[in-house]
Amino acid sequence: MKKILTAFLFLAAVKMVAAQTLQSPEQFLGYKVGSKYTRHYRIVDYFRSVAQAKPAMVKLEKYGETNEGRELMMAFISSPENIQQLDAIRKNNLAMAGLGDKTAAMRDAPVIVWLSYNVHGNEPSSSEAAMLTLYALTDPNNQQAKEWLRNTVVVIDPCINPDGRDRYVNWFNSMVGTHFNADPASREHSEPWPGGRSNHYNFDLNRDWAWQTQIETRQRLKVYNQWLPQVHVDFHEQGYNAPYYFAPAAEPFHDVITPWQRDFQVMIGKNNAKYFDTNGWLYFTKENFDLLYPSYGDTYPIYNGAIGMTFEQGGHSRGGLAVATSSGDTLTLTDRATHHYTTGLSTIETASANREKLISEFRKFFDDGRNGKVGEYKTYVLTDKDPNKLRAVAQLLAQNGIAYGNVSEKNFRGLNYVTGKDEAYADEGYNLAVSAYQPHGVMVKVLMEPKTMVADSNTYDITAWSVPYAYGVKAYALKEKLDVSSSWKDNSIVTDVNASYGMLIPYTSFNGSRLLAQLLKNGVKVRFAEKPFTYKGKTYNRGTLIVIKTNNAGNWSAVVNAACRQFNIQADIVETGMMDKGADFGSPDTRLIANAPKIAVFTGEQASSLGAGEVWHFFDKVIDYPVSMINAADAGRINLKNYDVLVIPDGYYRSLSEKSISDKLKDFVRSGGKIVALEGAVSALASGDWGIKVKEDKSDDKGEYANVKKYGDRNTSSLSGSIPGAIYKMELDNTHPLAFGYPDYYFTLKQDATLFEFMKDGWNVGVMKKDAYVTGFAGVKIRSKLKDGMLFGVQDMGSGNVVYLAENPLFRSFWENGKMLFANAVFLVGQ
Ligand SMILES: [Zn+2]
Repeated sequence: MKKILTAFLFLAAVKMVAAQTLQSPEQFLGYKVGSKYTRHYRIVDYFRSVAQAKPAMVKLEKYGETNEGRELMMAFISSPENIQQLDAIRKNNLAMAGLGDKTAAMRDAPVIVWLSYNVHGNEPSSSEAAMLTLYALTDPNNQQAKEWLRNTVVVIDPCINPDGRDRYVNWFNSMVGTHFNADPASREHSEPWPGGRSNHYNFDLNRDWAWQTQIETRQRLKVYNQWLPQVHVDFHEQGYNAPYYFAPAAEPFHDVITPWQRDFQVMIGKNNAKYFDTNGWLYFTKENFDLLYPSYGDTYPIYNGAIGMTFEQGGHSRGGLAVATSSGDTLTLTDRATHHYTTGLSTIETASANREKLISEFRKFFDDGRNGKVGEYKTYVLTDKDPNKLRAVAQLLAQNGIAYGNVSEKNFRGLNYVTGKDEAYADEGYNLAVSAYQPHGVMVKVLMEPKTMVADSNTYDITAWSVPYAYGVKAYALKEKLDVSSSWKDNSIVTDVNASYGMLIPYTSFNGSRLLAQLLKNGVKVRFAEKPFTYKGKTYNRGTLIVIKTNNAGNWSAVVNAACRQFNIQADIVETGMMDKGADFGSPDTRLIANAPKIAVFTGEQASSLGAGEVWHFFDKVIDYPVSMINAADAGRINLKNYDVLVIPDGYYRSLSEKSISDKLKDFVRSGGKIVALEGAVSALASGDWGIKVKEDKSDDKGEYANVKKYGDRNTSSLSGSIPGAIYKMELDNTHPLAFGYPDYYFTLKQDATLFEFMKDGWNVGVMKKDAYVTGFAGVKIRSKLKDGMLFGVQDMGSGNVVYLAENPLFRSFWENGKMLFANAVFLVGQ
């Protein structure tokens, strides 16, 4: 026993000594980087061991946890002198940007280079490279690194998306044999649904930087915005046959990007090219990866004063440990990690050599913002009747470090976002104003400007996102500078009401939907008004929620008061069921939601992972309401009678074209069920016998030589027919419950050219007529075609309904104004 104990103590001592000496990744892991995939917790362990061995040079910071409980962490690496005063460096850096409460005093402030790895979980070589990079920077024999770190602070986030990474790595490890198989047809190169790219809720974290709808982004951006690096690299992987991609990026560039930000991309690119040429590795630049949409890991840093870049290695998802490429070579994980390691160090080298210029341009970037030099509009004023809509905007601005306040001046004109015309301001009751004169002036312009500058060029993503449209608030853009208060107040106070008969709750923003979901979940029976009514001289609009003692248990008013406080909605007392004007509470025009609806959602490989993820995230995280996520392939087996609502997210549903499934779904609806179909699911139903039809495009006049196209134009000729995501104004029938709480219009993000015929036997609730285009890129052919069609509709069938939502109201969970529409579809339609 004693012997065992001694041996144990000896081993423990060895372990402690080991922990204090710096180990390479290979020494620590017991295998060469690239010969295996490293699970996330081992990457964290390695970073911890280096930080323990080199405490003077490396400081670790845990900044959060993922949905699945994995640790999010970053390492700060620099010279001992810099690490000792790390927080002073951070504050000085913020002060150089004109942020924080200090003035910049540090001479020779170090440049900050931030390297982010593995945002897409199935692009896993970069986290392996992160370990190599950390070791290279701390290796005492590396004199060059020591030199760089004298004037450079390197931040390494080894894995932005640990849940996605481990989803990929655990799957791969369970598929691979003793020896890897480079045959691309082998199963280890074919990931199952939903793949490791996204996070737990199937969200693409490289589309989420500005919106911060996901927990990983929110926690990371909090730290990021306290640092604001001068250089940021986002490491990715692309198809395994592609060579490496690095900066400079492709057109289109957003017009706020400065000449220096373009120039430095070229400098980095040239330095990378030097190393790649020496090794004979192929690469390309200036293609595919543009700089426009603000929620990428390159654009967001750019709009916040950094040189932001995307680096792409070939090998994502299908690279395995090795894969045979079309050029006849075998691409290994070691190759992939080595390439990312090389560009990471090359970036640090270039940044260190250009510290002075990087710092002075960084200062200038924020000075220009502070002095209002960015953009033609100097003040943006948002106004709404419901303070909760402005609160949602305020939260977005605060998360991005943007200052906002109120205006007391009400007598001005500006570009009215709703009409697109220069008009006198009309205050709706509450306002929120953003001045362009602030350090984050560039971000203000990018998020707020009514029209995004887009050249007629290929882009990777949506081209319009202006916040007033996405959040559904009225807004004005002014060319003059107004005084904006330094803090924002909406002065809305919610007080409990002492109700014995009932309560009336306005339904004018998504908070109303959240409140409704909460009440239903807590067993409260809620009614809502299908028509406006008047009580004690006050008019209540369609959708007003009515909770009365009838059918409700003892403490109902306490539950309702608590929910009203939580969602900032002031309820009124009602003392009788008889209204002054309009329907009484016993009338059929006052609808009762007698039971909390039981909801099923189709998921699995027939569903779009992003679409199914958005719906899942909506119920689970946004409104906290229970749902059953059901594999669409099981549709034939499950008993749909157990549910009231079936949500079919975007997808490519084979099962919907099977007659037996289609009949089963129709039976479900006819006997009182409700289907809410989104995007691709609407198209799938339209190709069946459901009373909805895709609008055929008959306008295309094909000339005699229409098929004779120039080979050299092949990339641009398709643009006239493309619409990567532009804003269109729809007309809403807000007398239908699907559009309760909305004005008679809705700004949608149109992402394809599909429109549906007006339904003869249904309610065309959201339609597009003529001149609906507002902003964003839409090819000339498409722009003229997108008119006179339906996008949101409701079909009554038997005692149930089908709700068609052909445009995505939950897009990336950031199109805030669509959430109420989806909630209406689920909770109000057909009651
Ligand atoms: Zn990627």
